[in-house]
Amino acid sequence: MTDWCAEPVHLCLYPFLSAASEYVEESGITLDDLIHSGTYRYARSRGKERVIEAIKDGKVRKQAIISNAQAETELLSYPFARILVSCIEDERLVRRYAISEAKGAYETLLEDSSTGSSLDTDIIYEMSEEFGIRVDFLPGEREQVQMPFVDYLRFTANLRDKRWKLVNRELEKGKVKLRKSEFIRIIQEAMYERIKKDLPLDVPADICKAISGYTESIKKELEETRKKFGDAGFDFESGYRVKDPGCFPPCMSHILNNLKEGVNVPHSARFAVTAFLLNVGLTEDEIIEIYKNSPDFDADRTRYQVEHIAGDKGGVRYTAPSCATMRTYGNCVGNDEVCEKVSHPLSYYKLKLKKKRKKVEYK
Ligand code: SF4
Repeated sequence: MTDWCAEPVHLCLYPFLSAASEYVEESGITLDDLIHSGTYRYARSRGKERVIEAIKDGKVRKQAIISNAQAETELLSYPFARILVSCIEDERLVRRYAISEAKGAYETLLEDSSTGSSLDTDIIYEMSEEFGIRVDFLPGEREQVQMPFVDYLRFTANLRDKRWKLVNRELEKGKVKLRKSEFIRIIQEAMYERIKKDLPLDVPADICKAISGYTESIKKELEETRKKFGDAGFDFESGYRVKDPGCFPPCMSHILNNLKEGVNVPHSARFAVTAFLLNVGLTEDEIIEIYKNSPDFDADRTRYQVEHIAGDKGGVRYTAPSCATMRTYGNCVGNDEVCEKVSHPLSYYKLKLKKKRKKVEYK
């Protein structure tokens, strides 16, 4: 890291960087100080605010930092926010919080890399190094980069839009060409992985008790926001409209009908429907309930598998398979007019919802 990047005013904008953790460690501030000392009350309030912003806005906002003292408060608010979400013990809040931190940092990085100075390329190289992504600017270019396709595949696994598919990218000698802004979107995925790692933390009960004033007001906000999202038919974590079975693709409806009727459904279809339902916002318990009619239902095994697909076990949240994979396993049953326009069951769902919403608007 350059000196510029190691300054607290910079680090506090990216508090998940290794240099930021080192800075906090070297400052000699203990966990006890952060939790109890009056000196750090602003860091604690800002930590709470980070989580509230994640809940309400889906993004942790960048603060205007004008002094080192303010930067240190901002830096310390990050570990405190992580402690808060860990004490609340709500897996969907953890994911929303991590996504919101990564989104905020993505916007900051877009800004930091568009100043028109040489720092624009420096910061891209530094971030790439931090996350172990190999990248090069194209010769004579400041807006175009290239990266090895293996790194590209690793960090775009969760990006569902067609434009991220490798077949839709320009590939030369094993390297994928991208606009700088697209590359920053890929860094956002790496940031999310870093932020989500180790969450929820194993926080001792006495610490959770000591900060219960903060967690209680967050829980209240969480409840209110979820109610608002739920009433509007949106999933809290992703902002995705949920649970409209009338818009499910034929493949998923077919698997669900089979499960309802107690037909023994193959493993590939169970995986597909579980991932699909998680993606559209059903809870793990709601999904387990669906499997209860299966002839071989085993509550513990089903819970284990659903949690694994949700990413609770290995940290990777699976997405539903594409139409091509569904076809390979014999799980594609239909070809209605919407199927012909999509290559993914989730795209089918989104498109059908969009059409439905338009119809309602025009009525
Ligand atoms: S084409 Fe795709 S969305 Fe349609 S039924 Fe087949 S797998 Fe499902």
